[in-house]
Amino acid sequence: MKIGVLAVQGDFAEHVAMLRSIGVEPVEVRLPEHLEGIGGLCLPGGESTAMRRLIERWGLRGPLLDFAATGAPLFGTCAGMIIMAKDIDGGEEPVLPLLDVTVHRNAFGRQLDSFEAELTVPVLGDQPIHGVFIRAPIVERVGAGVDVLASLDDGRIVAVRERNIIATAFHPELAGEPRFHRLVATMATEHQEPAEGSARRRHPTRREGLPR
Ligand code: GLN
Repeated sequence: MKIGVLAVQGDFAEHVAMLRSIGVEPVEVRLPEHLEGIGGLCLPGGESTAMRRLIERWGLRGPLLDFAATGAPLFGTCAGMIIMAKDIDGGEEPVLPLLDVTVHRNAFGRQLDSFEAELTVPVLGDQPIHGVFIRAPIVERVGAGVDVLASLDDGRIVAVRERNIIATAFHPELAGEPRFHRLVATMATEHQEPAEGSARRRHPTRREGLPR
């Protein structure tokens, strides 16, 4: 299984390393043709304003939207979440309007530029997730088709899924946390090779078990 990592800006090298560590072949995506043959795509953390510019300049916007429309899984962390949000608080134009949420950038302010928190993410099992937040966004609104995967103790939403799109405000790739990437690999496998005898499913359901 090959999984792409959008490699225009940000911490793509950490996503690449995480994918390698779980036995997935990473592919750095900088050109539209790099999307060929990959089963899913990670959008890293970084600076969404810079990523927005480079996605435009390198002609990736349309091809990325076409890739998402195939039903292959996309996983965005932090800036990657902002890039996929349909609404960005403050009136910024969306980049890849794939995820029916409103995000607020840099939501934790100067006093709390970065912090870490233990999170419960039921779809990934009982073991808590160590969330590393760096100038992180928060999800302020979720649309009807969006599942909340994790919230902070105060109720603010920090991980979501809408069909084939997963996004976290924190960075599993910086915390040695492989379970989100494994989930993406499992979704990619099921998308590419639907179970024999079953009709091809474009989107995995939330009842799917944990990846092994
Ligand atoms: N603050 C960044 C932005 O608004 C995101 C930070 C991150 O990805 N760690 O794009």
